[in-house]
This record gives sequence, structure tokens and C-alpha cells, in this order.
Amino acid sequence: MRRSLLVSIFLSSCALNLENEIPLSLIADSSSFVILELNRAKQEGYIITKDKKKYLVYGLPYVAKEQSINLGEYNITIKPKFFGESRIEISDTNLVSPKLSDQERASAEYLKVKKIVSGKSSQFDNNFNFISPVDTIITSKFGKRRYINNNPRSPHMALDIRGAVGKEIVAPKTGKVLMAEQHFYGGKKIILDHGGGLFTAYSHLNEFEVEEGDIVTQGDIIGYVGMTGRVTGPHLHWEVYLNEERINPELLVDLEYAQD
Ligand SMILES: [Zn+2]
Repeated sequence: MRRSLLVSIFLSSCALNLENEIPLSLIADSSSFVILELNRAKQEGYIITKDKKKYLVYGLPYVAKEQSINLGEYNITIKPKFFGESRIEISDTNLVSPKLSDQERASAEYLKVKKIVSGKSSQFDNNFNFISPVDTIITSKFGKRRYINNNPRSPHMALDIRGAVGKEIVAPKTGKVLMAEQHFYGGKKIILDHGGGLFTAYSHLNEFEVEEGDIVTQGDIIGYVGMTGRVTGPHLHWEVYLNEERINPELLVDLEYAQD
């Protein structure tokens, strides 16, 4: 009798240990990513190369329950992860739900972002190396579940990084500016396209340093931290989209948490 062996691998070992063969059954966290051999994954997406071999970097969805997906020859089990929660009480209902015209504006902006991040243009490089857009500390983790007056809201699908108004934000990776405009929730917002279905977005900026169409190199200043949009204080709200999933930016950079 043959038994199938489910091999669990961790992201770090997966990312660093490409010389070993990648098992066909993988277990990974909600909103993380996996690295797969391109010819076995049989899927278009963000490609990295190592020793002339091509690998696909694939973003995994946020899941509340264990879920399994197949990609070519691979089977990936995605496990939910508890990222913490925050509960706030707001007695003024007008502050909880914005007025209709603002809701309509916000949903149009949401759809515009969704359309942009569904694109796949050519990549600028073949690595998955990032630097932090602001080199300070994390003030709000990715994936935190939020409740207002005990009603669940969408989880926090971004990383909040501390920064005073005017602090420089740099491109974490070379890319093209696809959006630099003012949104209802996000305030002044930038989206960078790194190609291959990888996008990064920056919200609540005080000022832009780039405009749509610009190509920015890793480390170039793209704008400045602010508190535009719906926000309680200045910080950078940083999102990373990979094959249309918002993945956890904490996996890409080395930042510490605020002590509180
Ligand atoms: Zn945020």
C-alpha cells in the first residue's frame, strides 16, 4: 500500500533552499506565498530565476478556514493564521458608515484598484528582493481582524509603518507608477507595477514625488508619509498584491514591531 507523504515546508526554507527539489504537496500560511518550479506549476505569474532555472512566486489568499488549491502538479494546503484583532466602539453611527456619495466614490476607487492589480506586464528583474519603503517600525500588523461595535469589518490587509508627516517613502523594488491620485479611504495613493502580477500600493501620503507613467528604481523616493484619507494619524499603509492576492508584506522585509 502506498501512502502519500505530506511534506510541510516553511517559507524561509522554500525561498532560500531552491537547490532542493520542491515537494509537490505543500502547506503554507494564509496570505503568504510559495515558490514553485515553473514547468511543474504550469501557470503564468511572477517569475524568479536561480541557476538558470525558472520559478513561479505565487501569492496565496487570505483564508478563514483551511483550503486547498492545485497549481499544475502542485497541491497547496493553505492554513488560516490568527493575526490578532482590534475592537472599537463608536457611538456616532454617521462616523461608522460614510454618506452614500462617499460610499459610491469609495467602491468605484476599489474597483479601479482591483482592475489595475489584475494586470500582468513584463518584469523589471527576476528576483523577489525588497527593501522597506519606510525603514522604521510596524505599528499595525497585517491581517488583524477588526470589529466596530462588535460588527466584523474587513481584516487589515496591509502593513502600517510608522512615519511622521514628510518622512520619505522609497520604492521597495523597481517598478512603474500606475496610479498617483487621491482616494476616499486611502487618501493620496500610489500603485507601483513591478510586472508579472506583482504590485505594491502606498496610502495616506502627504505628497507625491512621482507621477503616473514614471519608472522608479529600488530606493528612489516616491512620496512622503502623511495622513490623507480616512486615518487617525500619520503612517504608511503598505499593500502588496501578487496574482491578485494581498500577501503579508512582513514576509518581504525585516521590520520590528512597535513596543506598546
Ligand atoms: Zn493600515
